[in-house]
Amino acid sequence: AKSQERGSWCFFEPEMDARMQARRTLELDLRRAVALGEFELFYQPTLDLQTRVLQGFEALIRWNHPERGLIPPGEFIPLAEEIGLIIPIGEWALRRACSEAVAWPSKLKVAVNLSPVQFAGRGPARAVSEALESSGLDPARLELEITETVMLRDTEATLTMLQELKALGVGIAMDDFGTGYSSLSYLRRFPFDRVKIDRSFIKDIGLSHESTSIVRAVAQLCESLGMAVTAEGVESEQQMMQLEGGIRTSSVMEVQGYLFSRPQPGREVPQLCRTFGTP
Ligand code: C2E
Ligand code: CA
Ligand code: CA
Ligand code: CA
Repeated sequence: AKSQERGSWCFFEPEMDARMQARRTLELDLRRAVALGEFELFYQPTLDLQTRVLQGFEALIRWNHPERGLIPPGEFIPLAEEIGLIIPIGEWALRRACSEAVAWPSKLKVAVNLSPVQFAGRGPARAVSEALESSGLDPARLELEITETVMLRDTEATLTMLQELKALGVGIAMDDFGTGYSSLSYLRRFPFDRVKIDRSFIKDIGLSHESTSIVRAVAQLCESLGMAVTAEGVESEQQMMQLEGGIRTSSVMEVQGYLFSRPQPGREVPQLCRTFGTP
């Protein structure tokens, strides 16, 4: 068995080398990207479920690589988190989202994703308040999206950090709800303003009785806890019919997904405002 293991190690070595080389290249490129500011924010509309009027946009980062073109976040955020570059990247995203949103119609909100890594050390409150101050954006228009990974850490420190953020007047949303382990206890413990139901549940509402029931139950739960709800990843009118008909509660519910719009560059925001109307 030993020699076999050694054999397979030898077999995979060139591939490992190639992978490590690719990673090293990506790392150098990413450092350069931070220094030169090669990032861009795309914006995806969120709409009111019933009126389909625009409520705001979620900012989603892209890397405008000089040779490879636009790179989606899934291909560089994990490395950026690993090597600490997510801190300057995340601060840039906050500043950029706030300064762009200031020019939008004044009722529109902007949502910014925060990495769990931004909750290490003293947390993101300082970066958030600096972005608000330098842009002049009304804090009530900023919503910060966090995933369950943030709550998995030291919960006391996390709670303090979330309370610091809330004291700035911004909203907090729990992203990708339903994909983790103990989402329900987090809803009780942390001060969320909104829950974003993960795309995996929306995907087969109407097709699967189970998914429909789960989405309905989550919407009702959020309503009774005084939290807003967003259905993520809406791709079809059939899904909208389910959301409008069977799932609607009196809670504020928003929808987001390719059915309405893919994420678009900031210069498309005025056109999106005309298309969907503003509150
Ligand atoms: P997320 O926060 O869950 O964002 C939603 C993702 O789903 C986006 O992918 C969006 O383009 C995609 N999406 C939206 N509607 C639909 C739909 O109808 N169908 C399908 N199939 N997909 C849809 P994207 O832009 O590639 O972002 C992926 C993830 O990268 C985000 O997931 C978020 O976790 C992370 N991310 C994006 N921007 C930032 C950022 O500025 N900072 C941090 N830390 N993470 C970010
Ligand atoms: Ca998000
Ligand atoms: Ca999400
Ligand atoms: Ca996600």
